[in-house]
Amino acid sequence: MENISLLGCTGSIGTQALEVAALHPDRFRITALTAHSNAEKLFEQVRLFKPLFAALTSGECEIPADLKNACAWSFGPDALREAAALPESDAVLDAVVGMAGLEAVLTAGKAGKRVLLANKEALVAGGEMVTSVFGPLKDHRLLPVDSEHSAIWQCLEAAGDNLPEEILLTASGGPFRTWEADRIRNASVSEALGHPNWHMGSKITVDSATMFNKGLEIIEARWLFDMPEDRIRVVVHPESIVHSAVRFRDGAVLAQMGVPDMRLPILYAMAWPDRLNTGAEELDLFRVGRLTFEEPDEKKFPAMALARAALREGGGAPCVMNAANEEAVYAFLGGRISFGSIYDIVRYVTETLHAGKLRCFEDVRDCDGRARTLARERIKEIQ
Ligand code: NDP
Ligand code: MG
Repeated sequence: MENISLLGCTGSIGTQALEVAALHPDRFRITALTAHSNAEKLFEQVRLFKPLFAALTSGECEIPADLKNACAWSFGPDALREAAALPESDAVLDAVVGMAGLEAVLTAGKAGKRVLLANKEALVAGGEMVTSVFGPLKDHRLLPVDSEHSAIWQCLEAAGDNLPEEILLTASGGPFRTWEADRIRNASVSEALGHPNWHMGSKITVDSATMFNKGLEIIEARWLFDMPEDRIRVVVHPESIVHSAVRFRDGAVLAQMGVPDMRLPILYAMAWPDRLNTGAEELDLFRVGRLTFEEPDEKKFPAMALARAALREGGGAPCVMNAANEEAVYAFLGGRISFGSIYDIVRYVTETLHAGKLRCFEDVRDCDGRARTLARERIKEIQ
């Protein structure tokens, strides 16, 4: 039985994790649930999964009478760390969105828990620190949930001790793959939220439209697989069937395929090294018919180059980029800036602010805060 603390239980990844956990009650017990603001959904989940600990990280709220004594309750941002270090939990599934999840990842690692990581922003902001707490991939203490990284991990496992030459990170290309650059700049919120293959939370859906998501994933791959940036190639694959691939010295390329359904990589990380039933549709290659691959259009989608530059600069640069992107995405979703301004703001902040080496979590928090302040000022200026 694996005891799991689930952080971000009300989101797209969180609810799918609960769905697969419910299919295997003999394997998984949900020991902690944390939501940010969706109290009603959290209450519903507490009734169903009966955790030992539940928390709402945005602050205090009224607990329904039937749930008051159902488990220990906690409120406010510190609750994330409490859930991450819960003595009864073996693993922590971090499905929080944004850098807000980083401290909990570090706490879980220091408490000896295995972390199943969906929360890519945590690794982007604090990559070096996170990898130093968890050690190399082969220690199996930090397991990826992101579909591409799960695919790469599965390919690497299949290759035993053979080291990869190159990672082929696939990208759907998002909703604007075939649009002209001018039209992309003025895309509306509902257009940006219309992802062709995946149904996800709004922040990552916008990231997929700008392709900052792929930029974040290049950085995520750099830290998870200890792979230099110039050996991580992005391959646009609109069908989202090949979830990523790895090339080896002999020229062989191993790829992992499947239907685009996050329940597969979520349950793979939860059940590793076993493969359990996910309830997902079977891949029907005859129905898919054709798999296509394209070079990414860096002119239309310059976000990936910005992410690569941040990786090369090192230190706090990826943290700065991530913070500016989080601020810009929420400003876009709130109708305060245009779609094209997301990139402009991130570029302005990364060009203006150069943070040095980040030595501890407080350094990351400080760097993240400075980047957010600058991004907010810029958003106000251009509004
Ligand atoms: P959602 O927006 O759907 O869910 C986010 C979850 O985090 C919710 O439970 C939310 O609580 C909680 N949350 C939001 N802000 C905070 C905060 N400041 N502190 C603590 N908790 C917070 O996001 P997704 O599930 O789509 O994504 C989660 C992570 O997984 C992201 O990093 C994303 O990039 C990554 N990911 C997602 C994929 C997907 O298919 N969705 C695929 C691959 C990676 P509440 O609802 O109560 O506000
Ligand atoms: Mg992904």
